[in-house]
Amino acid sequence: MRAALPDILDISHQPMNAVAPKISFVSLGCPKALVDSERIITSLRSEGYELSKSHAGADLVIVNTCGFLDSAKAESLEAIGSAMAENGKVIVTGCMGAEPEQIRDVFPNVLAITGPQAYESVVSAVHQAVPPKHDPFVDLVPDQGIKLTPRHYAYLKISEGCNNRCTFCIIPKLRGDLVSRPIGDVLREAEKLAKAGVKELLVISQDTSAYGLDIKYAPSMFKDREIRTRFFELARELGQMGMWVRLHYVYPYPHVDEVIPLMQEGVVLPYLDIPFQHASPNVLKAMKRPAHQDRTLDRIRKWRDICPDLAIRSTFIVGFPGETEEDMDILVDWLKEAKLERVGAFKYEPVKGAPANDLGLDLIPEEVKEARWHRFMKAQAEISARIVKGRVGKRIQVIIDEAGPTVAKGRSKWDAPEIDGNVYVASRRPLRAGDIVTEKIERADAYDLHGVAV
Ligand code: SF4
Repeated sequence: MRAALPDILDISHQPMNAVAPKISFVSLGCPKALVDSERIITSLRSEGYELSKSHAGADLVIVNTCGFLDSAKAESLEAIGSAMAENGKVIVTGCMGAEPEQIRDVFPNVLAITGPQAYESVVSAVHQAVPPKHDPFVDLVPDQGIKLTPRHYAYLKISEGCNNRCTFCIIPKLRGDLVSRPIGDVLREAEKLAKAGVKELLVISQDTSAYGLDIKYAPSMFKDREIRTRFFELARELGQMGMWVRLHYVYPYPHVDEVIPLMQEGVVLPYLDIPFQHASPNVLKAMKRPAHQDRTLDRIRKWRDICPDLAIRSTFIVGFPGETEEDMDILVDWLKEAKLERVGAFKYEPVKGAPANDLGLDLIPEEVKEARWHRFMKAQAEISARIVKGRVGKRIQVIIDEAGPTVAKGRSKWDAPEIDGNVYVASRRPLRAGDIVTEKIERADAYDLHGVAV
């Protein structure tokens, strides 16, 4: 994902010293990387640096890379290549920065390479290359920091790193073990975002349900109250700030059950993003996944009994080494039972440095992966279509993402930005981004809903 620079960053109209250095920023990768980008930009803006929308007009380019999959690395190298060609002064950071030789081999002339979350190193590399010309313009930075998302929603990162060791993943190697932010810090950041007009918070981390485990759920202070740094408390407190709260990257651990009543009561959105990855015990074992899939279906049923409105979004990997046709049968049968609302699937790609490469399991040929992926997607498309059609005639709340002359585009409580479906709202009165309206759904297509504001 390349984060387009929104208008909030177009500061050309602001009275600033004409010689303020300009930085062009490319943000690639997942929402967690986006949050890192926001922090770097916030820091640079506080020192008086300006942001440029083009590499050519900038004094320097920063590329925040993603190194999760080989395809993401290729995209990162391409972005560095464009920055080198169009500007020539380039600092690279992010996940790929953890293995600098991969970048130096191709681009020996990049100015500096820093790893993920190395905010200070990025900022000091910028100082060296293009020293700040001003005293800090702290007043130019809004209290909530700089956001790369639209004004009405924001990602809230609650921890870094991960204690799991899934064999296809190098994130623990790149980002280390789980480090949770104290809940007081997280809640203060959320409060600032609410004050700045954010209507929807997207809670992210590598494993949201593990929040606080590393610090033994230590309490911290928020508004004269001691609150434990724990998943349930986090959901409960965020849910009282007047924003939609959406929980991403949750694992179906028993303690997640506690949060489902909060969803039924409308405290947080009835939405759980759970990356199941597979359903066959053999494959899950080879993947070293942190959840017991055999009990997961029961857990999902129990959750839906408590909160019938719950939408579960998930991702899966097909074609993992050693996966058999029987494993695929188990996966597709499981999918039909689970009836997940939103599903994405990836064909397995070996990641350099991932333990999966050393398991001694047979690699699945590309054409077999392709066929399995189509089989999986076809099964899910039928499930999704039935679920989406079942919503016709209902009245739902929709948050507007894009205004339109007669029809606005938004999302329901069951849809996260960028990854899920859209809801189109016809309305006689003009709707603005961030408005939350009630809509009567009139029709559905494969993934999207259409209706009128009531
Ligand atoms: S839970 Fe697994 S896939 Fe997710 S970051 Fe941790 S090790 Fe990687």
